[in-house]
Amino acid sequence: MDWFARHLLAWFDRHGRKDLPWQRDPTPYRVWVSEIMLQQTRVQTVIPYYERFMARFPDVASLARADLDEVLHLWTGLGYYARGRNLHRAAIQIEQGGSGFPSTREGLEALPGVGRSTAAAVLALAYGKQAAILDGNVKRVLSRFHAVEGDVSRTATLNELWEHAGSHTPERRLGHYAQAIMDLGATVCVRRAPKCDLCPVAGRCKAFANGRAEEFPHRRRSRHKPVRRSRMYVIATHSGAFLLERRRAAGVWGGLWTPPQRSGDCTPMEICRELGIDERSVEQHRTGAVFRHTFSHFHLDIEPVYLVLDKKPGQAAEGERTRWYRPGGTQPVGMPAPAVKLLAGAVDGAAD
Ligand code: SF4
Repeated sequence: MDWFARHLLAWFDRHGRKDLPWQRDPTPYRVWVSEIMLQQTRVQTVIPYYERFMARFPDVASLARADLDEVLHLWTGLGYYARGRNLHRAAIQIEQGGSGFPSTREGLEALPGVGRSTAAAVLALAYGKQAAILDGNVKRVLSRFHAVEGDVSRTATLNELWEHAGSHTPERRLGHYAQAIMDLGATVCVRRAPKCDLCPVAGRCKAFANGRAEEFPHRRRSRHKPVRRSRMYVIATHSGAFLLERRRAAGVWGGLWTPPQRSGDCTPMEICRELGIDERSVEQHRTGAVFRHTFSHFHLDIEPVYLVLDKKPGQAAEGERTRWYRPGGTQPVGMPAPAVKLLAGAVDGAAD
């Protein structure tokens, strides 16, 4: 075990997190779900989602049998919904394969949504196998500790970081080491203002020694995000039902349900005609304040348009792509956070 691993493990024994829900019974399935949820998301945010998910889907078989809508419903608000879709597809793949949960790097990486680092985390945390991890937190720790100057989005830099990751990974206490290095990145070697005075590896950290900790990891300057505009039509009846549309499987919010979303040029009458709603049944319509939702690669400015109908139109077909939805009802649907917010605002507005 090298100097880095020794100091990290001694720190973990004193300060590491040892009672997270997925650490209590670290089966491959539980670790896998936690690792997918933790991608791009903080531990404290993940915990309640994880607990609800495990209560409903305690094992691969129950997840594979589930309806995608229910999976995405439990994901509502967690973001990056492709993760939920991939978990569901992977569970089906595991069940259909008939060989149980994969226990090799190749088997794990063959699952949708599982890359090299996630596979390594499952191997180390659930199976106790030697495998180097390089998630976002670990990249930050190692690029600082070794003062890796290259852009972390480049393959050559990543290869250098993988080498460092592999060279520090010990032969024993693999689960603890994996948890320790991820914890160090999440709690001490944080993105802004790292707490180097509390760090167990500060004594040999090159970035710290040179007073350059926050300069790492180097990233290409992010391009300016374009702004797109659209309207969301919150179509409601007096009885509190809302018309939702299912989005295409590919693309952002794929497979989720939202109020019908159209370009900024679409008028309320056009959307009524398109959806088979008699324009004469529209009792009120008003526009709400534009709000912004930011994706990883663009901003979306959404202008809500609220339509209240005097009755549920018979023609607006319910089926694969549209359905009437009652918030708080029993039918689970996956909705992105802005859609949840719009419906909640519409319900509150109606109650005023
Ligand atoms: Fe990160 Fe500071 Fe520790 Fe270096 S000394 S690994 S920069 S927290």
